[in-house]
Amino acid sequence: MTTETPQPRIMIAAHGLGKAFGTNRVLQGVSLDLAHGEVVAVIGPSGSGKSTFLRCLNHLETIDEGSVTIDGEPLATAGQDGRSHYVPEREVRRICRKMGMVFQSFNLFPHMTVLQNLIEAPMTVKGLAREAAVAKAEALLDKVGLLAKRDSYPGRLSGGQKQRVAIARALAMEPQIMLFDEPTSALDPELTGEVLRTMRALAQERMTMLVVTHEMGFAREVANRVVFMDQGQLIEQAPAAQFFATPQHPRTQAFLQQML
Ligand code: ADP
Ligand code: MG
Repeated sequence: MTTETPQPRIMIAAHGLGKAFGTNRVLQGVSLDLAHGEVVAVIGPSGSGKSTFLRCLNHLETIDEGSVTIDGEPLATAGQDGRSHYVPEREVRRICRKMGMVFQSFNLFPHMTVLQNLIEAPMTVKGLAREAAVAKAEALLDKVGLLAKRDSYPGRLSGGQKQRVAIARALAMEPQIMLFDEPTSALDPELTGEVLRTMRALAQERMTMLVVTHEMGFAREVANRVVFMDQGQLIEQAPAAQFFATPQHPRTQAFLQQML
């Protein structure tokens, strides 16, 4: 009899990603796998390619080299190895719907109420009936503590409230993966806690999450793994506790020193 260890379901597989803007090589050979339910924090200096990396994962940017596979399905391949193949636009959209993204700058629709922000995509993209979309939206607003703001416009909300609405809006599409790009960087310090608490709750529900952040406390306490990027390369990665206790690379050490 053979004993088989169950293989983890790999939700994101990025292999050898390369990306240049003109002569600026922004990503070089970046590889990272995320298993189902894993929370990975990406840290690194400004300009190191963190946002570009996230954007390459959900097709907001094209890649020049490497491949991106989402939940076992090829989303993008590139390079001179002859393996490049075209993924039809329809497929790209379907696969990308498995990922929700939250940006530093909230990106809510300013002319729509909170509720309208949450039901728009489920109705137009997923074809959900209005009543079902509203019920789902209300449940999510309740979950992020903002049901009372249902009929408010984003302009009337604090930054922390806007970001919690943005998270609820992404969740309304029932993604399997959540990508966060510095979700608290635009917030006043007293408002970061409420957003981090919402993200922590999501992690506890075993959402697969890739989080670019400067919040070292969050990375240490919530992330399973921490990845350090510098100058377009993935320099070091380790389980969170180990990463902060014994960073191996001098550049990681220097970065952490300056963050603490
Ligand atoms: P980070 O998120 O780590 O601060 P970014 O991924 O935003 O880094 O940027 C990495 C590098 O790519 C920077 O040099 C930036 O100027 C450049 N860059 C990012 N987006 C673009 C773009 N759309 N066009 C040209 N250069 C870009
Ligand atoms: Mg960035």
